Amino acid sequence: MTDALEGGCKCGQIRYKGTRADVPMFRCHCRDCQQLTGTGHADMVPLRAESFMISAGCKTYEMTGGSGRSTFSGFCPNCGSQITRRSERMSDRIYVHAASLDDPTCYVPVKSIYGDAAQPWDDAVIRQGG
Ligand SMILES: [Zn+2]
Ligand SMILES: [Zn+2]
Repeated sequence: MTDALEGGCKCGQIRYKGTRADVPMFRCHCRDCQQLTGTGHADMVPLRAESFMISAGCKTYEMTGGSGRSTFSGFCPNCGSQITRRSERMSDRIYVHAASLDDPTCYVPVKSIYGDAAQPWDDAVIRQGG
């Protein structure tokens, strides 16, 4: 499998490409992800920040993450698809939402984070070592 990935939003106005960062893909159940996605969790693929290129016009929403530092959610202003997540704390990475990839089948989540915040109806929590 190649480490180069491409994707974009629903309407096609925003496109991106980048290479995989050598860290695990994960599923996040935090409250921010619940509210931003409107579902129980976000499925995230980490890319190398220095490899990342995205169309001009991607809008960014800034919020304060669990660490107290800023986190940014990137989305298409036309169709509203969420595309990226980035934080000041891990500035060498850009996370893209798995379903925004042209080939979402390459997403293989290995762990959940903030699993304790998962909603009781979200049975997708990946419990490690259990
Ligand atoms: Zn769009
Ligand atoms: Zn989250």
